[in-house]
Amino acid sequence: MPAVKRLLVVVDMQHDFVDGALGSEAAQAAVPAAKTLVAQAEEVVYTQDTHGEDYLDTHEGKLLPVPHCIRGSAGWEILPELYRSGARIFEKNTFGSLALAEYAAAFDEITLCGVCTDICVVSNALLIRAFAPEARVRVVSAACAGTSPEAHEAALLTMKSCQIEIG
Ligand SMILES: [Zn+2]
Repeated sequence: MPAVKRLLVVVDMQHDFVDGALGSEAAQAAVPAAKTLVAQAEEVVYTQDTHGEDYLDTHEGKLLPVPHCIRGSAGWEILPELYRSGARIFEKNTFGSLALAEYAAAFDEITLCGVCTDICVVSNALLIRAFAPEARVRVVSAACAGTSPEAHEAALLTMKSCQIEIG
């Protein structure tokens, strides 16, 4: 039997979502668990929310008028303690990354962690579910944080309905 291929996806663990413009205590509290996952992972990839100076003119910016993850800014950077040197990064200018989902489809087990549970984690988990119908997809709750505790729980419930394992 061929070996099981496992992938860890770290979603948007960038300063602006942890301790910057859109940061939260919940996001900071998720860092140690995410760090453990990275340390144990066979392969890890990252998503990096990436906007330009025109952010406020974009659809997302009109609905969330808080500039964040502007390319090249300190807030755009992935937390260095979570980054495995040389690992692949999928930049994205919206919630989900099609390129990530296509990449993840080559794996048998895909684990996700990161922020925000109810925006970018759920978007990417469901995209991966669509691209990899036979894969085990798992989200580690303790290594995620939502825009609120209620939104976090609601997103986990939605993902569970879509046959994503919640760990
Ligand atoms: Zn964004």
